Amino acid sequence: MIRAVFIFIVIVLLAFGAVWLADYPGNVRLTWGGYIVETSIVVVAALALVFAILVAFAYRFWVWLKRGPGRIGEVFSARRREKGLEALSSGMVAIAAGDAVEARRQAVEAEKHLAGEPMTLLLAAQAAELNEDDRAARIYYDRMIERGDTEFLGLRGLINRARKDGDIERARALAARADELRPGTDWVLKELYELALKARDWNKADQTLSRMARGKAGKGEAVKRARAVISYERALVCLDAGKDTDALSLVMIAHDLAPYFVPAAVLAVKLTAELESPRKLQKLIADCWKQAPHRALAEVIRLSNSGEQSPDWFRRAEETVAPHNRDHVETHLMLAQAALASSDWGPARNHLMKAGGDQPSASIYYMLAELEEKANADAIAAREWILKSAAAPQDPLWICDSCGRQEESWSAHCPSCDSFDSFTWRLADRGPQVAGAIEAEVVKEIEVVADE
Ligand SMILES: [Zn+2]
Repeated sequence: MIRAVFIFIVIVLLAFGAVWLADYPGNVRLTWGGYIVETSIVVVAALALVFAILVAFAYRFWVWLKRGPGRIGEVFSARRREKGLEALSSGMVAIAAGDAVEARRQAVEAEKHLAGEPMTLLLAAQAAELNEDDRAARIYYDRMIERGDTEFLGLRGLINRARKDGDIERARALAARADELRPGTDWVLKELYELALKARDWNKADQTLSRMARGKAGKGEAVKRARAVISYERALVCLDAGKDTDALSLVMIAHDLAPYFVPAAVLAVKLTAELESPRKLQKLIADCWKQAPHRALAEVIRLSNSGEQSPDWFRRAEETVAPHNRDHVETHLMLAQAALASSDWGPARNHLMKAGGDQPSASIYYMLAELEEKANADAIAAREWILKSAAAPQDPLWICDSCGRQEESWSAHCPSCDSFDSFTWRLADRGPQVAGAIEAEVVKEIEVVADE
């Protein structure tokens, strides 16, 4: 509206000017060097107007030129961005496909077009990982942890690197930082837990496990088992420090969480025998034998009554332990050993046969040989049992489920592969038979038996 009024006023003024010029015609005379130009005032006014318009256009053009490069730059940077994004997506595809060379090529391309973008750093780090270029990967992760938007991701990369290098303390420090940035993130908690286990920091492992397993997850069997093992290890630490009472309460927690967990049952009986009343001990023995019958438990029950003679132990085992798990192989084995020690040959043979079942283990055959030898001085029968033992399965052992290592006693971490809680009590898978070696051992045993 204002613009229309303005244009109207300009037109009116121009019209007045033209009328006024027509009313007062005049001449302009310009003398310059040898030239004389003579013209009317109207022409000069028209020329002045044209000149003004030309200047206005020139000014507009200048402004356009001045802003021009920025506009051109924008077009170029949009193109660069597009190329960079293409390189990023191609690079991610290459990583997913495991194409290390292509991944690196695209990472370089992306870096060229999108230097400093968080995704570019991530792609470069991943490509370096894929190319097993540890140094480059570490450099990119280090750059990532310097920026707020990529610190968390960078930490994850660095934690993996530190674990690969076996630098557990550094990995733990990095994981603690990641936990500060985003508390309670699943993978961070998992790292904190596993690293605490590796560092044998049982208290921290226990705390982290509690944070991980809130609610329903905390009631799962695997979590209970892990907590039991950790409590057991904490009990061992207390025991080392001479805090037997604390050790007992921790091992009782372990036993309550996982009643079938043999090492906790063994230690619980041992400490209860030392610290608690006989009535409590008897109750615990009954419970443990029901849930975790095992030769190590039988041994600690036997030792819980110091100074006991063999026949007394046999009677005690039969009357107070065996009834809680009458038909278990370990019950028969315990009674057979107790009977052998107290020279009760009849029950010894009976329990050995039952302990052996369909497929007696080598140690059952050895005990049968011992029986023949001691009870009947029958070297021929003894020799037959020993011959049979060669083909018999070995006795069960604690075997690492990750690497197959065999141990006489349980431990929380495998000494070979450092897996946590990987030992199970079971028969070894019989490897290829070393027939010659077993034969030689048998012959030696027979000679010893025959000489006696
Ligand atoms: Zn192992």
